[in-house]
Amino acid sequence: MERFDREFHQSDFDKFKLCPRMFYYREVLGIDPERTSEPALAGTALHSTIDRAHRDQIWEEEALFQIWQKEFEAEITRVLSAGVELPRGTIDAGIYRAMIAGYARKPWNREATIVLSEREFFFEIRPASKTYEFAGRIDQLIEVPTDLLLPDFPELRDIGKPSVIIHRDLKTGQKKGISAFELMLNDQISIYAYALKYGVFDVDCDGVSETYLDILPDLHALYFLQDHIPYKRPPKDKTVRGPGMYLTQRPLGRLQSIPRELMPTCTSIRRGEYPREGAARGFCEKYCSVRSHCESDLLQEVA
Ligand code: SF4
Repeated sequence: MERFDREFHQSDFDKFKLCPRMFYYREVLGIDPERTSEPALAGTALHSTIDRAHRDQIWEEEALFQIWQKEFEAEITRVLSAGVELPRGTIDAGIYRAMIAGYARKPWNREATIVLSEREFFFEIRPASKTYEFAGRIDQLIEVPTDLLLPDFPELRDIGKPSVIIHRDLKTGQKKGISAFELMLNDQISIYAYALKYGVFDVDCDGVSETYLDILPDLHALYFLQDHIPYKRPPKDKTVRGPGMYLTQRPLGRLQSIPRELMPTCTSIRRGEYPREGAARGFCEKYCSVRSHCESDLLQEVA
């Protein structure tokens, strides 16, 4: 089997844990996806739309929705011209409109100062004898007046600061992994938190990560934008789906243990252990983008 020979990305951890074999085809052999999905492209377009909202201070729903539509069409053109299969007619644009509108309504978004947005990073860890390199891109680092957060996040009233620094990752998919325990274990947040404290960032977008930020955000968040979609029929005890941001922390003491937490997955990937675990998780038929490769290899192995 070929060996994994590049730096680790946060998404490697997600992909490897879904199915190590899929990770092998996609990230070790570099097999391009045979298909993508409209929700994936719509999510990319929504990230661009939010970036533009902050950059140009556009907060009007219709204007933002039109930006999203243009970005979405551009993404579709890009993947179709690359020959990637794309099942069409699978999304409801109204859902994306609602997510955009909900984002724009929140004072803690409109009044946020963007400290960093969509910036590449690099860092190394050496939990034992081997060094592992990590690279990636963070979505947003923002500074928000604490008062604006209190109506939705009353638990922050004792934080004792007029403003808080929040690192957050924007999600357009289904909400998952949001309990306090799951957020504590979230590898993605751990990798980003470590990067902000110990890594270097490409702040000036010249393609070289060279700036130490040495930032310890007050909070980290997974921001599930679907929480902004209004209920058609709200349950008795709820008017909204959720607060949007699901907050956690990575204090300094925890950061120091993160290299050892990441090491087992890094070691498995480097050793070349890629079992077909997607089947047990019901992943093969519906979601796997490299199933035909996996299937034909299996047929040869068992022949
Ligand atoms: S088909 Fe299933 S087992 Fe094979 S790579 Fe895809 S998810 Fe993994």
